[in-house]
Amino acid sequence: MNRNLTTSAIVLLGRRWGDLHRSITLYSKDLGLIHALAYGARKGKLAGKIEQFLSGVFYLYHNPVKNDYSIIDVEIQTTGERIRNDLTRTYAASFMAELVMRMEGGDRQSVHALLQQAYALLDANESIDRIIIQFIWRFIAIAGLQGDLASCPICEKHYSEEEILFFNTVIHAPCCGDCSDVDNDSFQLALGPGARKYLMFTSDMDFYGAVAITLNEPTARRIKRYMLRYASIVAGGDLKTLAVVME
Ligand SMILES: [Zn+2]
Repeated sequence: MNRNLTTSAIVLLGRRWGDLHRSITLYSKDLGLIHALAYGARKGKLAGKIEQFLSGVFYLYHNPVKNDYSIIDVEIQTTGERIRNDLTRTYAASFMAELVMRMEGGDRQSVHALLQQAYALLDANESIDRIIIQFIWRFIAIAGLQGDLASCPICEKHYSEEEILFFNTVIHAPCCGDCSDVDNDSFQLALGPGARKYLMFTSDMDFYGAVAITLNEPTARRIKRYMLRYASIVAGGDLKTLAVVME
């Protein structure tokens, strides 16, 4: 088996490993979630090269005996520099990383492409709220959990134009008010008709096109909070980065 391999990947996390090295969590297009050691990443040829949120082509060495990976080199495609230099963007990117690490599964190429597009937009100057909304909605779709926005998945009733959708935490999907098992009165997991139209309208677009559709700020904020709660339920709760990105 070939021990050297090349793969497109994104750095989700990096931490110190001893005095000289770093331990890196990557999302690879071919391998999914992997941990790799970057020897000399703190001093040496890789120093300063493997930063969080960058994406690029990674040259890896796989040790089949220990079943671990080390990073030999990287060709950087997107630096992630703007994400690292802006706290709100860092929070958003960290939330996406946590969600991907928590919910490993789904088609790797699709998850990789989604994450790469989201980070590229966060690294540019796009609306953070809209990037988060579209990321979560598409991520849930890749995980096979995206709810039907035209009719209730439980009682199969077709939604009326102005209907507010609620939520069922057992099937992890929006549903009608009668089939809901959340507190409807709190409206925390209520999806209004405008938000539903926006999601249906942007579902068939590519990521960049969908993020380019503008929303007024209060609406974007409301849909973002809804999506974050949705993501939290789907992930089984307790996401460490949820509170900071909810602001
Ligand atoms: Zn129903």
